[in-house]
Amino acid sequence: MNQDRQARLTLDQLGKIFERVQKPGRYTGGEWNQVRKNPRKAATRVALIFPDVYEIGMSYLGQKILYSILNSRPSVLAERVFAPWTDFERELRAADIPLYSLENRIPLPAFDILGFSLLYELNYTNVLTVLDLGRVPVLASERGPDAPLVIAGGPAAFNPEPVADIFDLFFLGDGEEGFPEIIDRYADLKTRRLDKRRILEELASIEGVYVPSLYTRVRAGNSTLLVPRPEGSAPARVEKRVLSSFRRSHMPERIVVPNIQAVFDRVSCEAARGCPHRCRFCQATGVYFPFRIKSPSFLAGKMLNSLRLTGYEDASLSALSISDYPYLDETVKALMGELEKNKVSLSLSSLRPKGLSPEVAESIVKVRKTGFTLVPEAGTERLRRVINKPLTDQDIWDALSQAFSRGWRLVKLYFMIGLPTEKEEDLLGIIALVRETLRLGQKILGSPPRINLSVSSFIPKPHTPFQWLGMEDEDVLLEKQDLIRSELRRHRTVEIKEHPVSTSVLEGVFSRGDRKLGEAIREAWKRGARFDSWKDELDVNAWKDAFQAAGIDYRSYLGPIDRRAELPWDIIDAGIKKSALLGELDKALSAEPTPSCLEAKCGDCRGCRLSKKMDRVFEEPVRVPRMKAADLGRASGRVVRYRAIYEKRKQTRYLSHRDLIRILQRSFRRAGVPFLQSQGFHPQPLISYGPALPLGMEGKREVLEFKSPALFDEAVFAARVNKCLPSGIRFLRLEKLDDSAPALSRVLDRFVYSVKLRDLSLRAAAGKNAGSASPPGESRRGRIQELVDGFSAERAAGVELTVDRKKGTLRLSIKNTMGKNPRPQDIITELFGIEGAVHILSREDILLKGPARSAGEGDLQP
Ligand code: SF4
Repeated sequence: MNQDRQARLTLDQLGKIFERVQKPGRYTGGEWNQVRKNPRKAATRVALIFPDVYEIGMSYLGQKILYSILNSRPSVLAERVFAPWTDFERELRAADIPLYSLENRIPLPAFDILGFSLLYELNYTNVLTVLDLGRVPVLASERGPDAPLVIAGGPAAFNPEPVADIFDLFFLGDGEEGFPEIIDRYADLKTRRLDKRRILEELASIEGVYVPSLYTRVRAGNSTLLVPRPEGSAPARVEKRVLSSFRRSHMPERIVVPNIQAVFDRVSCEAARGCPHRCRFCQATGVYFPFRIKSPSFLAGKMLNSLRLTGYEDASLSALSISDYPYLDETVKALMGELEKNKVSLSLSSLRPKGLSPEVAESIVKVRKTGFTLVPEAGTERLRRVINKPLTDQDIWDALSQAFSRGWRLVKLYFMIGLPTEKEEDLLGIIALVRETLRLGQKILGSPPRINLSVSSFIPKPHTPFQWLGMEDEDVLLEKQDLIRSELRRHRTVEIKEHPVSTSVLEGVFSRGDRKLGEAIREAWKRGARFDSWKDELDVNAWKDAFQAAGIDYRSYLGPIDRRAELPWDIIDAGIKKSALLGELDKALSAEPTPSCLEAKCGDCRGCRLSKKMDRVFEEPVRVPRMKAADLGRASGRVVRYRAIYEKRKQTRYLSHRDLIRILQRSFRRAGVPFLQSQGFHPQPLISYGPALPLGMEGKREVLEFKSPALFDEAVFAARVNKCLPSGIRFLRLEKLDDSAPALSRVLDRFVYSVKLRDLSLRAAAGKNAGSASPPGESRRGRIQELVDGFSAERAAGVELTVDRKKGTLRLSIKNTMGKNPRPQDIITELFGIEGAVHILSREDILLKGPARSAGEGDLQP
């Protein structure tokens, strides 16, 4: 496929499709900081694929790290691909357009490597959609040497067997060093024109690489599970890859700033990888083991620089257990000094109750107060010991008292049901804990706090001490959910978020499954299964039919497993010894706790092969650089009001007004424009905007007003800000307003729109008004003029239509009536019978009351 023709076609064709899908901003690309290279100059093209929607994928730090590392290499081009929502999938199929990457809209077959991030087992059907819609054969066995190499990494790959038929190889562990090594080796092997099997055998020698096609599947002992057995030179076990050093490993700063709101839309800095605690249900402990930390000064410096390069107003320090980051207090205190000045809020992921020092709590709430999160997991101290989360009830009350006394009014509590050895008293313990939280909040705050209670079902995951245990029966889990819901229903400020049991069951099947499940996944996909992790999208019947069609009893994957049995995922060595996991299982069943790896003596424990890689020495001074203050213009010593004119065109026409506002505010931050913000716990920029453009309509002279303590030179302002905007948005004018000037909303006078005459089909109009179908050329214009004259005659004042023959456009000027103004698209529909006319219309201008000026008069040239 000739990529150039594809790009041109796609942009035009896509416009029509974007009209018909939700959130077209998911598919436009063109975001700030995207890296767009010349595909012809890249020796290796890599598609980084996240098998879920854009908003979720754009929140995933792993993809940002790889995107940054790969694109920093001149010979490599890395572009992003996300799973299309069902409506876009339908449209692409109908238009016969293959799925493409966002940067250069390259179709998938034109890449050398397709790299999937597998975070969640319930994304597997989306993997099939991406490959199929991308015109890449779904099965590895059906892809020849010229097809892209399809690889996967991420936590779900730690049991690769259910999807082993799809991927050529899996990469296990830290990708920062391993992925580039695969790319280099593959590029070299490709030049040696080896056959695919030879290439895969070579790649299998890279640490962390598992090539499923080099293994046969056998039934081990009397287990029903199929397990992989190596053939030829394939390694007997694949050790996951652990970075040589994490302390100063790659942290992306110039991250892509999404055009539409991502789930986590902020600068997220990974302070630590892995967790020292040994919670026995937690697969992440094994997947990201051992515990390693980032150098605090390095971390802080990267965060502040990334904020400068992105313009984000939020940042977070993330880790599996951020409370265990040894420099947390000093780093937060030092950072808050800079962040508070720039009205940037800081949030911390997954705090442990004991981990929140008063200083940290105090610092964080200064800028913005989000919800206070606590993760007890189990309702009683006994059950918390079973799962090795030795949290006392008092620890929980202390943390909550701290939070309430600092004014937190929203608490997020996370629990699991169906845990090993769970009794009714443990469920009642959850209810009691929630009630006590309400009572405590009422006492400290004087009114009941809001509680978001999350209840999920325990899944015995691979590479955990509980991997041999069975999962609770669906009906029992539903009963337990009912009990909690019915007991807490009367508490109005408690919102319960239950993880659907059907979703957990499916997740349980795939995380503990074997190669046989591959067929069931394909069968379900053929039956329309998509986005299975989305509550409203999961089609349980499609799955039940699929399991039947594949001759699989899915419940057989949820039962207990013999401790001596060979497990499908034993092929992957996550670093913790199987014997240690068994030891932990025994301790769990007698509710015996195990200290964290930071407290335990490795010499006594000997539970893993990675103890030397664990960070234990933390003696670094915390140095935080200054954050560059907004420096555009010169201080005026007072508040100055400004009106700015800008255009919103090209792919940004497919962004909503909210998206646009975020982009403009962030571009001001990037450009160093000092602008005033409101006071209080959620400071908002004091910027007012002209009326929103409908999604899909371009605006050639949009208007906004803002306040600033600085005096700007118009040309300097526009030059700086325009350099900090994604393509499609550009500032044209900036004028200083008198203090007494009326607010923008009071001076909006007329809105001027245009539509190209050639876009006005007269077919529909014909039916409406008389005569034949679209007449040729001049008479066609004559016909349009007739319709316009007819319309103007009937219409009340305020709407002026003018056929501009010279420009070949119809101009619509609509008076602003402070009430519900007629919409231009409705007028086009009324006149010409064209539905969804938004996309053929442009807003030419917003005329303001006051001295008239001709369109574009005094605009700054690009
Ligand atoms: S040997 Fe050390 S690092 Fe490894 S699991 Fe045991 S305590 Fe943790």
